[in-house]
Amino acid sequence: MLNHHKEDTIESVLKEKRIIHPPSTFSANARIKSFQDYEKLYQESISDSENFWGNLAEKELHWFNKWDRVLEWDPPHAKWFLNGKLNITYNCIDRHLTSSRRNKPAIVWEGEPGDSRTLTYEELHVEVCKFANVLKQLKVTKGDCVAIYMPMIPEAIIAMLACARIGSVHTVIFGGFSAESLKDRLKDSQAKILVTADGGFRKDKIISLKSQVDIALKNNSSIVEKVVVVKRTSESIAMEHGRDYWLHDLQQDISDNCPPEIMDSEDALFILYTSGSTGKPKGVVHTIGGYSLYTHITTKWIFDIQDTDTYWCTADIGWITGHSYGVYGPLSNGATSLFYEGVPRPSNPGCFWDIIERYKVNIFYTAPTAIRSFIKMGDDIPKKFNLSSLRLLGTVGEPINPEVWMWYYEIIGNEKCPIVDTWWQTETGGVMITSLPGAISSKPGSASLPFPGIVPDIVDKNGDNVPDNTGGLLIIKNPWPSMLRNIHGDRQRFEENYWNSLSKKSDEHIYFSGDSARRDSDGYFWILGRTDDVMNISGHRLGSMELESALVSHQAVNEASVVGKPHEIKGEDIYAFVTLNNGFEATNELISELKQHVVQEIGAIARPGTIQFTRELPKTRSGKIVRRFLRQIAANQNIKGDRSTIVNPDILDELKEQAQLHN
Ligand code: ATP
Ligand code: MG
Repeated sequence: MLNHHKEDTIESVLKEKRIIHPPSTFSANARIKSFQDYEKLYQESISDSENFWGNLAEKELHWFNKWDRVLEWDPPHAKWFLNGKLNITYNCIDRHLTSSRRNKPAIVWEGEPGDSRTLTYEELHVEVCKFANVLKQLKVTKGDCVAIYMPMIPEAIIAMLACARIGSVHTVIFGGFSAESLKDRLKDSQAKILVTADGGFRKDKIISLKSQVDIALKNNSSIVEKVVVVKRTSESIAMEHGRDYWLHDLQQDISDNCPPEIMDSEDALFILYTSGSTGKPKGVVHTIGGYSLYTHITTKWIFDIQDTDTYWCTADIGWITGHSYGVYGPLSNGATSLFYEGVPRPSNPGCFWDIIERYKVNIFYTAPTAIRSFIKMGDDIPKKFNLSSLRLLGTVGEPINPEVWMWYYEIIGNEKCPIVDTWWQTETGGVMITSLPGAISSKPGSASLPFPGIVPDIVDKNGDNVPDNTGGLLIIKNPWPSMLRNIHGDRQRFEENYWNSLSKKSDEHIYFSGDSARRDSDGYFWILGRTDDVMNISGHRLGSMELESALVSHQAVNEASVVGKPHEIKGEDIYAFVTLNNGFEATNELISELKQHVVQEIGAIARPGTIQFTRELPKTRSGKIVRRFLRQIAANQNIKGDRSTIVNPDILDELKEQAQLHN
């Protein structure tokens, strides 16, 4: 075929052919049992989508007052379930109290030092009401913003739910952020109250959160009036009179009765900042009705949670995955959701597997970055544990390299657990592209097919369709219930960033994800990377994911990040940053071998000009590789831009220094 879109489209070079079918026993018991069932559901969902969402909203959620209309779409502004009244905490807690779920664990938690706590739905109800009454006592009212800057402890989840209970808007700020990042988000979100802890435990150290709060609130540029402090580590901390209060003091004699506030479907539920992989984080605003429905139904169908399951999503609640699939989706389904304060660390590299064994976790949802770190540590660690309780695995956050997918499938899932590779974003609120575990076969490295009601497509920069198997921009054509409603305080950025980035096709309003992808002949979507990360090598446009996957498929390579380096003749040359698996040495011979390996896997055009070994790659605090700085390093430029979202900024200077040797 003549490819007249060549300048805008991306060549796909990955030759992944494996297909893994759902085990028949899994399908037989799953909520969606066959591909035919999925297809039927999908057809229904798009032939009359308002009817589809309306029926689900009625069946799956409790409303104090039913909506008048399912959708008002005034592009790019959507309203879902107009004039519907509900409270997400009623759906997540109260409605389970009248059934046998009352005494079922809602939250199972383990702290890094090994302390633990279980809260049944009834106990969670009590704690949320008490916390909500504390907020009320501090004069928090409907619509006020409350910031939550906490370690992963039950009070963090309780605080989120308490905000939602009284109609205040939470903004969870990841507890690993420094004072500076905290300050920016407090200012941007206009939070009035800040909920924090004296500290938390991370990698066998005490992380002092309160001292970061004190720095952030000095020379106050935010409007925070009061700080509520949860006692976690019992380290001594400074408390400012009239501003800082211990939660346990505020809770003395507090009532545990707090009826849920009647909220409008389109009232804001939370503001959450994106990870900042591609630039300054965006304060994404989500509203109650659509978000409640979409997180509920995606959790139910994708994670297939049954009443007896223990479900574990490892994401911190400071990220959207923690919000949608740690807290709201699972609780709305009456599930048991597990939370763990710790992360794998030298003193306990197998802690995740230990938790799975001890709590008999059935469903496990984590990120490729974590899986790659497990691979690096070696198979013998997970093999020491009994992981036979697992029946379903999930991944989110970055494209998963096919070899990493296979490792997850074989070593963790023992070749019996389907894997759901879930593509979505802070902005989408819930999963958009995934396999449904009982119904859709997986292709390692592909996020698979759209969730019912979602119409993704691949277009070029003019908004024209590109042929199958050709990469382009990943867009969503229709509104969906949990779509972002705004960028907090920046309507213009909302409109321009997501809706106006393709040259005008006046009657079309499509959501532009910022990712590039291709669709294969079976309709499967393959994420190729960020649109910013597309390289142009001698006229061939290549995405980062497939080149990186070729490197990762070599046994020596643990992680790879590939960027374009300006080149006089080729336009750009491939520059790869590579970390090695244990037991492999960074030698010139290995460099030649890896270059040859990529040529074999992909072809001569993909031969990396430079391979630079490193001990780590720069990552966001949510664990994503950040390529924008690597591009600068490869181009021998000074490092510019906001480093605050990066967990290991020092690696940038180290990489820059070592890059001089290659340039
Ligand atoms: P920012 O928008 O600030 O640059 P971010 O995009 O990393 O940060 P998130 O909303 O946390 O912030 O991440 C969403 C992005 O993560 C997606 O756009 C996509 O690039 C990537 N992603 C998430 N899940 C998957 C997946 N299953 N496969 C491929 N990529 C994924
Ligand atoms: Mg993004």
